[in-house]
Amino acid sequence: MRIAIIGAGAAGCICAVECKRLRPAAEVTVYEAGKVPLAKVAVTGGGRCNIANTFAGIGLAGKAAGRRELREVYPRGYRLMQKLLHDFGPEDTVRWFAAEGVRLKEEDGGRLFPVTDDARTVVNALLAAMKREGVHVLTGKALCRLTPPTAGDTATENHGQWQLSFKDGSVASADAVVICAGGMKAEKGASEHGGFLQGLGIDTVPPVPSLFTFNIPDRGLRELMGTTVRGAAVKLAGTRLETHGDILITHWGLSGPAVLRLSSYAARELAARGYKADICVRWMADSGDGETGQPSADAWIKDNIARYPARQCTSVHPDNIPSRLWEFLLQRAALRPDLRWGELGSKGAARLAAVLSADTYHIDGQTRFREEFVTCGGVALSAVHADTLESRRHPGLYFAGEILDIDAVTGGFNLQAAWTTGITAARGLAAED
Ligand SMILES: Cc1cc2nc3c(=O)[nH]c(=O)nc-3n(C[C@H](O)[C@H](O)[C@H](O)COP(=O)(O)OP(=O)(O)OC[C@H]3O[C@@H](n4cnc5c(N)ncnc54)[C@H](O)[C@@H]3O)c2cc1C
Repeated sequence: MRIAIIGAGAAGCICAVECKRLRPAAEVTVYEAGKVPLAKVAVTGGGRCNIANTFAGIGLAGKAAGRRELREVYPRGYRLMQKLLHDFGPEDTVRWFAAEGVRLKEEDGGRLFPVTDDARTVVNALLAAMKREGVHVLTGKALCRLTPPTAGDTATENHGQWQLSFKDGSVASADAVVICAGGMKAEKGASEHGGFLQGLGIDTVPPVPSLFTFNIPDRGLRELMGTTVRGAAVKLAGTRLETHGDILITHWGLSGPAVLRLSSYAARELAARGYKADICVRWMADSGDGETGQPSADAWIKDNIARYPARQCTSVHPDNIPSRLWEFLLQRAALRPDLRWGELGSKGAARLAAVLSADTYHIDGQTRFREEFVTCGGVALSAVHADTLESRRHPGLYFAGEILDIDAVTGGFNLQAAWTTGITAARGLAAED
């Protein structure tokens, strides 16, 4: 049996190794458009590779994670991931890589990294495993056309075989094909390297970017670049979409975990609005479950008026808000810098409470520079069999990795999806007659 895997990324490489282990007699070839395999994995996690997540951050071990918890980390694909993680979850990822000599360590939020803090450890382990198992890897092979096997006429060239045509003019054939070509390009509606899915009748969900930061053309805010605010919340105005966590002010606007998470939850809404929308920042947010014990803005202001009537408002600020930002927020509430708490009055107190709990900024564009961006959308999950990831329309054609309409927030969940779906497709293929 000849198996062709398109894309030597995270999903393609683990899938190739597993295919060969499950079907040692098969000829497994990975066709990669780029110059080297695993180029993206080498830069993941800022070069440290956040390879997976224990799921401890959402309170449950991977296999036990419920649909509600999984939806928080996989806004797209949580149902399918719940099913697939049973068979290849974070514990399996840890075991799989340990068997390849990659030891992992856990950091905050359940994030797993190689103990070497070097993504090349993961890249080298996958390359070594492919070599040992006898997987062929061909680089500079960008698939541009995929032709399904013809049925019936045994005289035709591609009877029972998939025909693969590459950009460099070469062709190949295979009994089964696994597409692991990564996130679709939002601009072209095709894979990064071509529209080979066109004409195959595979349903796709229009791709849009996810995990980006917000451009906010507010000079005063941008002057505070480098400021981090812990325990804040950010909401897409006019929706229920709100995320909690740290916010980072950058020289182009807002970033940080809460913003990246909101960009994921609101990926479609923001795309539909052309990345022009209002967001409300709650600078003094509790964790949403009341666990941080942070007082409400109203209660905190009233307390200051009672306790520090003679002190200037600038001199007492919330624990999580650095003093430079605090001065900026007082200005936004139209309060004089020398104003004392006792002089605030009910109108001043109301304006300050409004700024602390719903400070509105206009987003004008998004930035993906050096962020862990992924694609929301791709091959529709309804187009594949849930247990094997084989196309419902074309037997012998499988999909794995980011090309599927599965994507996650940051924290190692995206690579986990690549490992899980890569292994699932390999097992599905191995079970084929
Ligand atoms: C900068 C950055 C950092 C990230 N860091 C993390 C992290 O720390 N943790 C995490 O969980 N996720 C992270 N992600 C997301 C994660 O890297 C991806 O979700 C994951 O790599 C997807 O795996 P994949 O195999 O589906 O796709 P990819 O890893 O993108 O691999 C797809 C491969 O297919 C090839 N290809 C595409 N088209 C063709 C074609 N026509 N013919 C042949 N080959 C083709 C591509 O060249 C590529 O090598 C990061 C993403 C970015 C951009």
